[in-house]
Parts: sequence; structure tokens; C-alpha cells
Amino acid sequence: MECRTVLEHAQALKEKDYSSVELTHALLEKSQSCANLNAFITLTSEQALKQARQADKLIGKGEGGPLTGIPLVHKDLFCTKGVRTTCGSRILDNFISPYDATLVGKLQQSGMVMLGKVNMDEFAMGSSTENSYYGPTLNPWNHERVPGGSSGGSAAVVAARITPVATGTDTGGSIRQPAALCGLSGIKPSYGRVSRYGMVAFASSLDQGGVMALTAEDCSYILQAMSGFDEKDSTSINQPVPDYIDGLSESISGKVIGLPKEFFSDGVDKEVIQATLDSITLLEKLGAKTIDIDLPNSAAGIPCYYVLAPAEASSNLSRFDGVRYGHRASEYTDINEMYEATRTEGFGPEVKRRLLIGAYVLSVGYFEAYYIKAQKLRRLIADDFSRAFKKCDLIVGPTTPTTAFPIGLKTNDPVQMYLNDIFTNSANLAGLPAMSIPSGFDAQGLPIGLHLIGRYLDEATILNVAHQYQLNTDWHQRIPTGYT
Ligand code: GLN
Repeated sequence: MECRTVLEHAQALKEKDYSSVELTHALLEKSQSCANLNAFITLTSEQALKQARQADKLIGKGEGGPLTGIPLVHKDLFCTKGVRTTCGSRILDNFISPYDATLVGKLQQSGMVMLGKVNMDEFAMGSSTENSYYGPTLNPWNHERVPGGSSGGSAAVVAARITPVATGTDTGGSIRQPAALCGLSGIKPSYGRVSRYGMVAFASSLDQGGVMALTAEDCSYILQAMSGFDEKDSTSINQPVPDYIDGLSESISGKVIGLPKEFFSDGVDKEVIQATLDSITLLEKLGAKTIDIDLPNSAAGIPCYYVLAPAEASSNLSRFDGVRYGHRASEYTDINEMYEATRTEGFGPEVKRRLLIGAYVLSVGYFEAYYIKAQKLRRLIADDFSRAFKKCDLIVGPTTPTTAFPIGLKTNDPVQMYLNDIFTNSANLAGLPAMSIPSGFDAQGLPIGLHLIGRYLDEATILNVAHQYQLNTDWHQRIPTGYT
């Protein structure tokens, strides 16, 4: 029963093939047998079984919804009442939130069962989950490879078929890049679509919660449940959420797909390019039209992002000072020493690097040269997309330039690590919805991802095209060896 999708589980629960308690037991057991992946930070077995019992009651009375009784895990960046939220950091190792993130509450309301909190790069800074205080997570497709990041725990859990769904957050690619590297479907909705309340902030103007699952159809159900206006988040959008599920079955005939030449450059693996071109051919067969488009400022995406994200992080992470949350150093003589020792002990090297960059680009004398310039670039990048979306409904390319890379390969070269986001972070800079879906495998058996970027607030077109693609391919059905 482990390897099923959300919808398959929902059907089985409804038909009483098994109960949510039985399913939860089986998946908790699987999480133990897959402990070597190091995907979990906290397992919440007792709470999960309690939620599953409640779900079974509802299902028994015929009152369950499509997600009632379905297990999931949350990235350990979402606050969960009574369950610790570490953000992959020593500084929050003992932090227990007094409230649930809106997204967590909404999924709980829909009857989902939380199995635990999963590993991630510290404060979501990274592309490999190697920056976690709790050690790296392994990729179920190949234990010597990274699962991507920062939501690498989420991706490993779903790829290993421990739960059919995981939440994630995406500031520059952290849902889509791990989804690509682990053979999953993962969507980052438009900025403001999903509440950020209770989602620990990294770079507030870029962060967005979303979901990873086995299919685009499953993503639609979860996104439907997690989306919507939240008065507790001032950046949440007060716009109606379309019926994502309804739109899935539409034909994609006549949809115009823009192909930016900048996304098919020399730096991309040949096999990744080939899988992308084959996918485009399939979309054309399904009736989509393709046109060439230009995103002339896309090369500025990485430098722009790596000025703005650290700047926002340096402000957001100033709250971790040993007074209000989590870890406090034990040895100090005055308050300044306490701050310094706490932050020195509490943060890992990548977080410190970002805080230094962030403080630097915001400081007097450099603010105009770096921060303001990056803000201007951000506008140019967003304008490129606005121009492109006058001519096309969707932009398609590879999600990442390579498949999953070996653990340790890029840990000493931050710039190489940053380049993983070369195709993903512009969607965050422009606030656009974007998704990765499985589109093939390389010669080493590692998954490849196809990247779909949509118009602002138009997740529906992305999900529709992704679903139609999956009705005609089986990449998303492949299971890593040893995880059936
Ligand atoms: N890899 C990017 C970074 O390190 C993006 C991370 C994310 O989306 N949270 O900042």
C-alpha cells in the first residue's frame, strides 16, 4: 500500500481496503526502515496515530474529504504547535512553537495526518540539504547523491514513498530543484497565494510555501487545500483561488509555450537538454504551440538573488539572539558577548556567510551599489516575464542544469552551489508560479526535471499542462530501487 498516490490512498480509505491508522502504522514503519536517508528531524508517531484515528472516524461517518486520513510530512520550517521547529539549525534545536503555521492548520483541517518534520538546509539556505545541523539527507535514487535543497528532506521522503506528500518552501528553487533531483512533481505557487504565517522567514519577499507529491494531480488537491487569503499575512493575496482540480482535464490544444533560448545554453547537461526537448515535442503532439522568446536579463538572476536574499535574511535572522528563541550560549559575561556567542554557536557556516553578505550590501556606502542595483535588476527580470507572457501562456525549460550531484562535491564552492538555481530563482524574483515535473532519467538512472513557469496567479495552467503531460508519460511512476 505504501507506493500509492494521494488519490489512490483516498480511494482505498473510502473503500475500506485499509484504515488511516493501518496506513499510518505502515508508513511510520517505513520511515524507520529508511532511517539511513536521514530525512526526518522529528518523527511524531503518537500524534500521527491520534490524527489517523480521528480521520478514520470521519471516514466511517462518510464525512471525510479527499485528503482525510492521508499522511504527510512538513518541512521543518513550518511552525507546528507543540512539536519542535528547528529550521535545520542548532539555534532552534529546542524551539517549540506555540502555534501552527496557517498552511499546517489548513492541511490538518482537511484531515491530513502529520508523520513528522523533515530535514532541510539551515534556514532554507542551500541546494543540497548538506547545510543542515542534523547532517545531510541522502537521495533515494542514489545514496551517494544529494536530494537537492533546501527542501531535501521533503523530497527524499516522497521519493522513498514514505509519505505521498510533503510541504516545502521555495525562495529561489527549494521546492522545484529537489523535486527535479528526486523525480517528483513540486509546485511553488505565486507569491501571496499561500500564507507565509508561521513559515519561518528567510527572504520575505521571495519565500513561498508549496508542495511536493508524486503527480501534478495530487499537487492540485494539496495546493487547493493550502491556498487562500490569510489576514495574518500582510503579503497574502485576497483573490479567489481557482478550482485547480476542475481545470486538469482540459485539453492543452492551442496553449502557447514560450521557449527562452537562455534556458538551453551550453552549461546544461546534454541529457537534461535532450529530455527537455523530447518533453516539448510531446507537448506539441498534445496540441501546444511553441514559440521562441527572450528573457534577456536572466543571466542577472543569480547575482540579483544573492544580493537580495542575504539582505533580507540578515534582517530576518536578527531575531535569533539567544533572548527570544531557542539556543543560548552558556558562557558569557555581558549581553553583547551573549549575543555573539549564541549566534557563533547557533548558526552554521552558510548562514553566517549570508548574514555577512546581507549586512555588507545593506551598509552605508554599499547600499546604492549593491542592494538598490539588485532591486533594479529584479524589476528588469520581472519585466522580461511580463513581455514574454503577452505572447505565451507558459514558459518551459529544464529545472536544473544537471541531475543530482555527489554529496560533498560543491560544499566548498558556494558559487557552484548557487548556480543550481540558475533557472529557478527568476520565478521567485518575479513572484510567478512555477513547477517541476519528472521528464526522464540520465544514463546513471538519475531523474531529470521539466520546469514550467506560469503567469502570475495562473497555477491552473501549469497544473493542467503538467497533468496532461503525465497522462502521456510514466516518468513520475518510476520508483527508486529498494523503495517499493
Ligand atoms: N538554493 C537557494 C539558496 O540557497 C534557494 C533556497 C530556497 O529556495 N530556499 O538560497
